Amino acid sequence: MSWARQIHIKSPAELSVMREAGRINAEVLAATRELLKPGVSTADLNAAAEEVLRKHGCFSPFKGYGHPPFPASITVSINRELVHGIPSKRRKLKVGDIVSVDCGTVLEGMVADSAFTGGVGEIPPEAQKLLEVTQGALNAGIEMMCVGNRTGDVSAAIQNHVESRGYFVTREYTGHGVGRQMHEGPQVPNYGKPGTGLPLKAGMTIAIEPMVLVGTEETRVLPDQWTVVSADGSLTAHYEHSVAVTEGEPLILTVP
Ligand code: MG
Ligand code: MG
Repeated sequence: MSWARQIHIKSPAELSVMREAGRINAEVLAATRELLKPGVSTADLNAAAEEVLRKHGCFSPFKGYGHPPFPASITVSINRELVHGIPSKRRKLKVGDIVSVDCGTVLEGMVADSAFTGGVGEIPPEAQKLLEVTQGALNAGIEMMCVGNRTGDVSAAIQNHVESRGYFVTREYTGHGVGRQMHEGPQVPNYGKPGTGLPLKAGMTIAIEPMVLVGTEETRVLPDQWTVVSADGSLTAHYEHSVAVTEGEPLILTVP
């Protein structure tokens, strides 16, 4: 995957379409969150997501993406699975699981991308802590999305939040520009140094997505060629928002 990708500054009109796509994406994720119950299959989550997308005349850029083509509209990644899990009728949720759901929405040619991790019934305290740390890292990254900062400031905020609490960030998968395509420049890793990277400009839109692991930063890909798991089998979590840099506060696009 080449990261010499173009950075597109969005017009106010493009930003308002992305905001609407983000609202729909939030509705998709909310529909899947309601289904995080024992016995529900990960294919059921995908079906619920597709129903919401269809209702709005939208589709997910995930379906058919990559090699081999991704077969579903959302990714569902459970426990040690960090990202890119493939929905399946055979895979049923169990009490205590933590489930990461990631979806994209295309509306009028513009893309929004977001993800959350939620629990099935009561989850162990160590899983709850992981969710809080990962969500906190997302917020720390979003706070840095201001004119005058650089991409490295966003990366460093995420890394510091996670590592200061004894957890790990992946080195292999990153945040990214989003909007006219699912993946645009700039690349925004979950680790970095303050004051480095590209200057943030108003109209930049970036999917910020901390991917956090309990035991190690190492990951591997399962033989299905998509599912990324922690190398040591430890728990993982993933939260993501698409965020616009403005002349004022960061604008989170993927909220209701
Ligand atoms: Mg995503
Ligand atoms: Mg993304």
